[in-house]
Amino acid sequence: MTPKTRSPIWHPFTQHALHDEMTRVVRGDGAYLHTADGRRIVDSISSWWVVTHGHCHPHIVSAIQNQAGKLNQIIFAGYTHDPAEEVAALLLKVAPPGLDYVFFSDSGSASVEVALKMALGYWHNIGKQRIRLVVMQHSYHGDTVGAMSVGARGVFNAAYGSLLFDVTSIPFPTRGHEQATLDALESACRNEIPAAFIVEPLILGVGGMLMYPAWVLREMKRICEASDVLFIADEVMTGWGRTGTLFACEQANVTPDIACYSKGLTGGALPLAVTLCRADIFDAHYSKDRTRTFFHSSSYTANPVACAAAKANLDLWQDPESRQRVASVATMQEQAIEPFRADPRFANVRRTGTITALDLKTKDAGYLAGVGPKLQAFFKDRNLLLRPLGNTIYVMPPYCVTGADLDEIYVGIRDAADALA
Ligand SMILES: *Cc1c(COP(=O)(O)O)cnc(C)c1O
Repeated sequence: MTPKTRSPIWHPFTQHALHDEMTRVVRGDGAYLHTADGRRIVDSISSWWVVTHGHCHPHIVSAIQNQAGKLNQIIFAGYTHDPAEEVAALLLKVAPPGLDYVFFSDSGSASVEVALKMALGYWHNIGKQRIRLVVMQHSYHGDTVGAMSVGARGVFNAAYGSLLFDVTSIPFPTRGHEQATLDALESACRNEIPAAFIVEPLILGVGGMLMYPAWVLREMKRICEASDVLFIADEVMTGWGRTGTLFACEQANVTPDIACYSKGLTGGALPLAVTLCRADIFDAHYSKDRTRTFFHSSSYTANPVACAAAKANLDLWQDPESRQRVASVATMQEQAIEPFRADPRFANVRRTGTITALDLKTKDAGYLAGVGPKLQAFFKDRNLLLRPLGNTIYVMPPYCVTGADLDEIYVGIRDAADALA
């Protein structure tokens, strides 16, 4: 039975029977959220990993305002506009060299669907029978059916298993067992002649902030290349400075054949995504034969206002100040996490770039661990927006976060361990 007075809104990833009280937010500025009841919350996870330079960054806000009064939507087949052209040109300047084309969509999941369709379309159009996809254990690529198919199977998609297509999964490269991952990829590439391998570079986000080193990424690319298997980098989460460089692939000196960017693409202000690809993939679709068209679109493809926000975000990244902020957040995060390495209540204390994560030792681990909601409630009382993945607590702040904010966050984490031990 549901109470009669409740809101008609069905929230994402929310079990309303256990959690029916939503925090009403009226304003965001920088690293803070202001609630209807007058509280100030430190946004310690960048509002689900999207906000990079801070909430309501003035440069992005004014770009949105200007564009909204000029042209706020236009069909993107047969038509184009300055904000999209500018974003595409700037993206190709900052993305790994060798990516040549930009396809717009409106969410990370959609950018992954586009990537998979590009890869399959490529092989189809050049007349080769390659349809199988290789994925990494514990991966997450989104919640649409294709994206779920290449992601980890589990509680998130158990009900929809019959919709998902079969893939080949290689083990996550845990420390000391990296070779097993590389061997599995090599064998999959040789024996199954797959179309593509899709992977989150350096950090598996939803899978529990699982981190692996750049040399493994580099080796995985080399193995794919040797067998002509397309390499798809899903940088939806890792892009825009999170791992310390603008894109995670930079650290491995890897140019993927296809790359997906979203979340921080507009600085977290509006929904937008892109899928970048090499020229050969575009060329395989380029023909006077209309059956070779890339058949994908969404109504709001390359929405001009969202593109203006992305252009403003790209402007901000031209300023060395943005990269300095990333470096200083990485340093502050390392200092903050360091004491936890000796704390016996935590395991796997880790950091890549601006992201830290640590596992609270509990009897039940995993996403549905009972401790997850308890931690979340504890942090909410402390006016901290943290949303642990089961017993894994992680901190992924916007880059305007201060040392004092981080102190508040980590004192909160220590106190949570005290309270829940
Ligand atoms: C969030 C995420 C997605 C899905 O993006 P949405 O915008 O939520 O659809 C895909 N891949 C990765 C790695 C993500 O973190």
